[in-house]
Amino acid sequence: MAKFKTVFLLGRSNVGKSSVIRGLTGRKVPAGRRPGVTTRSRAVEKGSIRYVDMPGFGFMSGTPSGKREETKTWLVHEIETRRDDIDLAILVVDARAFGEICDRWEARGEIPVDVEMHDFLRDLEIPLLVAANRIDRVLDLDEALDGICSRLGYVPPWRQWMDVVIPTSAKTGEGIDALRREISRKVGLN
Ligand code: GDP
Repeated sequence: MAKFKTVFLLGRSNVGKSSVIRGLTGRKVPAGRRPGVTTRSRAVEKGSIRYVDMPGFGFMSGTPSGKREETKTWLVHEIETRRDDIDLAILVVDARAFGEICDRWEARGEIPVDVEMHDFLRDLEIPLLVAANRIDRVLDLDEALDGICSRLGYVPPWRQWMDVVIPTSAKTGEGIDALRREISRKVGLN
């Protein structure tokens, strides 16, 4: 049996992936990751879980579109080749901005990159959790979480999907224990 269960953290740049890992493990993700530029992952181990912080995808101001495509291509390739080693993927989204960002993509006739990544992981049958992060910035939690669920194909109300979509704030620590419990369950550690 592998020594570690491997958990990939995926999400747009700046949504709080490293902060969530720090919340879960109490450890800082090693520095040197330049958002939207570096196509390298960083890992933090805690107990029998290895958390892998993947480069952020999607729009980052100042990131040329060629670079964004390059990151996405690299990510897709990395996930496909490491598929059998991935015990769980956590898609981290910004609970406050998610709806608005999706609307913007759809208005351009494009599939929102978070939705695309979610469906890609599901097609590969990788066990999946969604961390709806930054809930400290959300005014109406039900509205925000229902919006996230419906866009990702989970019929609201969101409280039916609390084993998949977990509201978190890496800033206040809210929801991090619930996320940790769900991770353990999904990777078969309890
Ligand atoms: P990453 O690029 O996805 O790894 O994002 P980081 O973890 O580096 O976080 C980006 C910024 O968002 C940092 O300034 C964090 O302090 C902040 N941040 C992360 N999580 C939260 C959260 O839950 N609430 C708020 N308000 N800010 C957060």
